[in-house]
Amino acid sequence: MNIANKVAFITGGGSGIGRGMARAFLDAGLKVAIADIRTDRLERVKESLEADERDFFAVEADVSQMDSLERAADTAESHFGKIHIVCNNAGIGVGGPVHSTPMDRWRRVVDINLWGVVNGCQVFTPRIQSHGEGGHIVNTASIMGLFTSQGSGPYCATKFAVVAISECLRKELKECNIGVSVLCPFIVDTPIFYPDLDDLDIEAIDKRKKQLGFLQHAVTPVFAGETVLRAIENNELYIFTDGNQSRQMIQSRVDRLFEGMDRQWPREN
Ligand code: NAD
Repeated sequence: MNIANKVAFITGGGSGIGRGMARAFLDAGLKVAIADIRTDRLERVKESLEADERDFFAVEADVSQMDSLERAADTAESHFGKIHIVCNNAGIGVGGPVHSTPMDRWRRVVDINLWGVVNGCQVFTPRIQSHGEGGHIVNTASIMGLFTSQGSGPYCATKFAVVAISECLRKELKECNIGVSVLCPFIVDTPIFYPDLDDLDIEAIDKRKKQLGFLQHAVTPVFAGETVLRAIENNELYIFTDGNQSRQMIQSRVDRLFEGMDRQWPREN
């Protein structure tokens, strides 16, 4: 896809990867609308990106509510005219065992991480189709959409679903000049790992980051955003943010699948 002068709509744009995408897209000359449930974050991103009103727009939306996302899409279209690229990226991290995570937490993660993406696909696909200029949809899953770990059942369930939805949607929209990708990041340095902390409390955030040693392996949100941009241009289905740990995780899953198959149905040489 030729991205010059295209308009992108990014959910969860008030923080982390969504904000990183906004930065990378603006730097590449796109016009960008961001949506987030947190208006305080939208305000701060608006200030920090220092983008002109002709290129950047921020709007409140709750992706788990279809009517809220419809309203945000209408507002962004009134501002920019057309939307070509949609990043269904808003999400939350919920850990816990499958059998004992309280149901309200299960429902919340499904409402945002799964229904938020489905809502985005339903709200924006007809809008992109209607202008006929083509476009691209990027759904944010996770490497945990391709690999499971103990204690991550609710999160993994939503992210596996997002991978499946994206694979199906790509086939459905193939003839409509609309590409579909699924972003499967490994570790990106974002507030998703410390949602209890105030965004402005730098001291507490630094302290927590030191405690969370795995963030040493993290890439930056802008790196993730630039990776997404390249993948849109090349119409990649799966978008990864690293080629080492992600490879090992996927390989171990595939190995386990085929080990099970080979035990049950030994291969004839
Ligand atoms: P983040 O917390 O920094 O950003 C997520 C944003 O989504 C926040 O600004 C939040 O306010 C917003 N949001 C939450 N619920 C919303 C709702 N109902 N409607 C609209 N906005 C809402 O987290 P992030 O790490 O940037 O996460 C972005 C996406 O990337 C998520 O889907 C997450 O699961 C995924 N992801 C992140 C990582 C990582 O390492 N950071 C890895 C894999 C996948």
